[in-house]
Amino acid sequence: EAEALRREAAAPAVLAGGELFPVYANVATLADARLSAASGAEGVGLLRTEFLFLGASSLPDEEAQLAALRDMAEPFGNHPVTVRLLDIGGDKEVSALDLPGEANPFLGVRGVRLLLQPRHRDLFQAHLRAILRLAAERPLRIMIPMVSLVEEIRGVQAELALAREALRAQGVPCGGSLPLGIMVETPAAVFAAATLARLVDFMSIGTNDLTQYVMAAERGNAAVSALGDGLHPAVLAAISQTVQGANGPGVPVSVCGELGSDAQAVPILVGLGIQSVSVNAASVAPVKRQLRGLCRDRCRELAQEALRQDVAGANRRSFAP
Ligand code: PEP
Ligand code: MG
Repeated sequence: EAEALRREAAAPAVLAGGELFPVYANVATLADARLSAASGAEGVGLLRTEFLFLGASSLPDEEAQLAALRDMAEPFGNHPVTVRLLDIGGDKEVSALDLPGEANPFLGVRGVRLLLQPRHRDLFQAHLRAILRLAAERPLRIMIPMVSLVEEIRGVQAELALAREALRAQGVPCGGSLPLGIMVETPAAVFAAATLARLVDFMSIGTNDLTQYVMAAERGNAAVSALGDGLHPAVLAAISQTVQGANGPGVPVSVCGELGSDAQAVPILVGLGIQSVSVNAASVAPVKRQLRGLCRDRCRELAQEALRQDVAGANRRSFAP
C-alpha cells in the first residue's frame, strides 16, 4: 500500500492525450527541498532565495550562498532547479541592508528593481557568482522576480555576463549558458508578455503578486482578501494574455503562485495553456493526481467559460472533469 503510494507520487503526471505535465516544487528552506523531492517533485520551479538574507544580522557571502544553494538542490539529483534571484523589498525586509522606508513598499524598490540599484552592486554580483558556480555542478535555471521592463532583463543579462567574465578570469568553473526566465507578476509584464518573451527562455506566473496587482488588493491584508481571488476572471484574463504573448516566440509558461495548487484552478490553468506548475511540497502528489486524466480540450472549454464569468465565486463551484 505505502509502496504503491510512493510509486504513484514518483510517476509523472500525464494528461488524457498522453501529454506530460511536469509538476515542480516551490522551496524556501532545506526542509521544503527534502520533503518535496521525496513527494515526487520533478525539480524546483521556484527556489525562493530570500531565506539566505531574512533574519541574518550580516549579509551571506558568496561561499555561504553557494553552500546553502547546493544543499537545497542536492535532493533533486539531476532535475532542473530554478533559482529565483533575491526578491526582497516589499514585505520582505532585510535588517542587514538598512533599506529606506517606503510609503507603498509593494509598489517600491523590490525584486529586480533593488538588485539593479548601483548601491547593491556587490551584493548582486556575489549572489550571481554563487549561482553560476553551482551551475557548473548541476542543471540550474535563473528566474528574475518583479519584472516590468525590457531594460530589467537586459540589466540582469549584463550583470550575469560580468559575473561570468570575472569567474573565468579567476579560473573558477561556472555554468555555460543557463536558461534565463522571468516571473510574470506585474500587469506591465502581462501586457508586454510578447515583447518580454523574446528575451527569455521561460516565464512563470507569480499569481500571488499578480492577483495583488491586478485587483489592487494588498496580499495579506485581511480587509481586502475577498478581492484577492486568483480565480477572478480579470486575473484569468491576465494569465490568458500572458500565455498568448509567450506563444509567439514559443516560450513555455508555468504558474508558481498558490493558484497552481488550487484544485478549482488546476483544470482552468491547463485550459489556458499553462505547461507546468510549481507547488508546495504538500501539494505535489494531489496536483499530480488531479492532472492525470485531464483532457486539454475539455479544460479549454472550461477555461473559456471561466473567463466569461462575472464573479470569482462562479469559478469556485466544484469541478467534475
Ligand atoms: C508569487 O508572487 O506568486 C510568487 C510565487 O512569489 P512570492 O509569493 O514569493 O512573491
Ligand atoms: Mg511574487
